[in-house]
Amino acid sequence: MTDLTLVNANVLTMDPDSSARPRASAVAIAGDRIEALDPDPPGSGRVVDLRGATVLPGFHDAHNHMIGFGMSLSEVDLSSPPVGSLDELYAAIARRAETTDRGQWVVGAGYDQNKLGGHPDRDALDRAAPGRRVWLRHTSGHMCVVNSVVLADLGLEEAGADLPGGRVATDSDGRPTGLLEERAQLLVGSLVYPYPLAELTEAIARAAGQYLKEGVTSCTEAGIGGGWVAHSPVELAAYQAARDQGRLGVRVELMAAREALHPLGAHEGDGLVAGLDLGIRTGFGDDWLRLGAVKIFADGSLVGRTAAMHDDYSGDGGGRGYLQADADELQAAIIAAHRSGWQVATHAIGDRAIDLVLDAYTRALAEYPRRDPRHRIEHFAVVQPGQVARAAGLGVIPVPQGRFATELGDGMLAAVGPDRHAWLYRQRSLLEAGMVLPGSSDRPVVAGAPLLGIADMVNRRTASGAPFNPGEAITAQQALYAWTRGSAYASRQEHVKGSIAPGMLADLVVLSEDPTAVSAERIAGLTVLATIVGGLPRYDAGAFDGLS
Ligand SMILES: [Zn+2]
Repeated sequence: MTDLTLVNANVLTMDPDSSARPRASAVAIAGDRIEALDPDPPGSGRVVDLRGATVLPGFHDAHNHMIGFGMSLSEVDLSSPPVGSLDELYAAIARRAETTDRGQWVVGAGYDQNKLGGHPDRDALDRAAPGRRVWLRHTSGHMCVVNSVVLADLGLEEAGADLPGGRVATDSDGRPTGLLEERAQLLVGSLVYPYPLAELTEAIARAAGQYLKEGVTSCTEAGIGGGWVAHSPVELAAYQAARDQGRLGVRVELMAAREALHPLGAHEGDGLVAGLDLGIRTGFGDDWLRLGAVKIFADGSLVGRTAAMHDDYSGDGGGRGYLQADADELQAAIIAAHRSGWQVATHAIGDRAIDLVLDAYTRALAEYPRRDPRHRIEHFAVVQPGQVARAAGLGVIPVPQGRFATELGDGMLAAVGPDRHAWLYRQRSLLEAGMVLPGSSDRPVVAGAPLLGIADMVNRRTASGAPFNPGEAITAQQALYAWTRGSAYASRQEHVKGSIAPGMLADLVVLSEDPTAVSAERIAGLTVLATIVGGLPRYDAGAFDGLS
């Protein structure tokens, strides 16, 4: 029995089946599923005239940090713009400090030293926020700066410390500057975490409200429950609470941080060497909340120049970055997770880290063959030509972020130098090698609205207007496919979502115009008119009579 039929629409189905139609003009919904395309005559239920608006499968952000984004909405915004210099950053911190009691935390996020001329400095932060605890996260999430009060809490006021997989930066006299890289961020985490579940649930609900306005119907949270990305060891419970309260808003897939996996004591013959309690793993859950891959960090950030490269970074400082753990330990973790039935999603940005992960996936598949494991490489940022073919041969899903070109592109071009520009954030060569490309933002690292990411996958320009490896640009159709069907594939969910066909979940976004029919410059400015999840309008701009 039909509940809702959208008529007079420009439906882009994203259905890859060659016998399926690429377009339709009406879609019928029964319950939470698509019932039919172009039903004739329309069935019972409501009929809504979309007056030519474009309908796509709802956008699926294949790599985001939903809690981190929700939390960032209440932190000091240090991104550029609005913050144009270190002095402006210190002024923003001073303003927040005025309304913060002594001893309490001033938390900011989103700064990029490439745009400010350097990292913030502990002494300047002490002057801006006297007696407060200041914690400022880099836009990459891979490093942060703290002031002297926090350094004193950590016993790092006068001298640094050696930390595997991280660094406490010091000046030429050996005095900490306040900059903590990679796993050194766990030190701050030990002071502030775990956050209470109620706070995390609020962050999820705040994020969900924003996502629905932007046409997102599904997202993949790229790491919970352990390591420096986690806010609490019981983060999954915050998602469950949000769902119980009817505030989850969008369908969520949760990656478990590798630090949350542990030996299980299963029967030797089971091969379950690493997992979560009770043996639950990738795929557990339902259409609204399910467990995805295990998230493993191989290396760090490109704009922060901590990612592990084969050759030196360009310009001042040089260096080749570093791995987040010993190479053998990382490979053993990947192989154990693979053997235990997990989909593996490894963060690898530098070409050296990518080789390490490809080696580990190769060994895992050789030693413990498994059908269609769909292992992923998150970001897949600096990729040599030979690495494309290797990854494709292993069935790896690369997960790059289109929006990085605009917001981080200038810093990336500077970090690798012209000889390696053609290796940066590939897209087209990945499709040509037969790989499936998902769409993702890594929000809150950059702005997460899918239309921004889609536009950037096509336009490939940095904030300063420089071309960003333009040979890797793709078409609007390919970018839309990535953000729908591609992301569904990366989540092993392409049989229920990512395209508009009978039997699929009725997750749809309605746009003011067709992104494939406007100039590339206009894509980012299109309007989301409605977002439907499970057959129900959950965002409605009020453009159509009778929709809500
Ligand atoms: Zn991420």
